[in-house]
Amino acid sequence: MLVNMNEVLLPAKKNHYAVGLFNAVNLELARGIISAAESTQSPVIMGTAEVLLPYGPLEEVSYYLIPMAKKAGVPVVIHLDHGLTRETCLQALELGFTSIMYDCSTDSYDENVRKVKEMADIAHSYGATIEGELGHVGDNEGSAEGDSRLDDPSQYYTEPEKAKDFVDKTGVDALAIAVGNAHGAYKLPPKLDFERIRTIAGLVDVPLVLHGGSGLTDTDFKRAIQEGISKVNIFTDINVAAVKAEFSRFSTMEKGLIDLIPAAVEAVKQESTKKMKLFGSDGKAGYRLESRGLGETDVNLLTKLVAEEVRKYMNRQ
Ligand SMILES: [Zn+2]
Repeated sequence: MLVNMNEVLLPAKKNHYAVGLFNAVNLELARGIISAAESTQSPVIMGTAEVLLPYGPLEEVSYYLIPMAKKAGVPVVIHLDHGLTRETCLQALELGFTSIMYDCSTDSYDENVRKVKEMADIAHSYGATIEGELGHVGDNEGSAEGDSRLDDPSQYYTEPEKAKDFVDKTGVDALAIAVGNAHGAYKLPPKLDFERIRTIAGLVDVPLVLHGGSGLTDTDFKRAIQEGISKVNIFTDINVAAVKAEFSRFSTMEKGLIDLIPAAVEAVKQESTKKMKLFGSDGKAGYRLESRGLGETDVNLLTKLVAEEVRKYMNRQ
């Protein structure tokens, strides 16, 4: 079933596991991810990112992602990762994505707040959720996600007090933090600032997101989730697993591309399954928000609308 991010992340935050975001820029990736989610009974977040659009245009990926999510036997969020422009975010919402990330982390703090707050109001009016980023997660060399390498990443770590202020001011549903993580494959073993994760999780109400998950050790993941991470982004690991499987199948190929497709789907399924079990989202497909009539998302939305009206009224006085 197609759901938004609150429906899978709020139960994850409450019960101390994490849900993976796996990017699916083609059908093999999408089929492998959904198949892993269904076989492990795991909620899942699937999507694409603005920098990945050259490999699969947003409109085209929406043609398979959204129907596949609706048909799935587990909750599936369709998410735009790292929306960099207002236009792409709006297009995703129009196409039926249930969640977006608007990444203004390279803007000044005030600009980040202003732009994300405006987009949060728009996303919520679609019943969609939104993720923001504070601090800046850089990229390892050759990352498929981008190429903003940072000379000294620790200068861009998320400041806990600012994180709270950012969430309060913007109304984001999830927050990506920079704590020693980076996109793509790590050249040197990364060192995560677990203390910082714990401090931010203690101050901020919304689920926290760890980008650049490919290449971290199992112990790193477990500790990060234990300290308060509720969503982990994975792309490099499944991207590479698919090609390795195709490459080894290539040597005994008989019919061409149709030999390689099932090999890629199976490899993506295996790699995603491993991650879902590691994050503890397996068996959690049935974890839902407690609701009293209205879903919690609707209540949040209603609260925001009422607050907005009250604010307008007060301003007129
Ligand atoms: Zn990212």
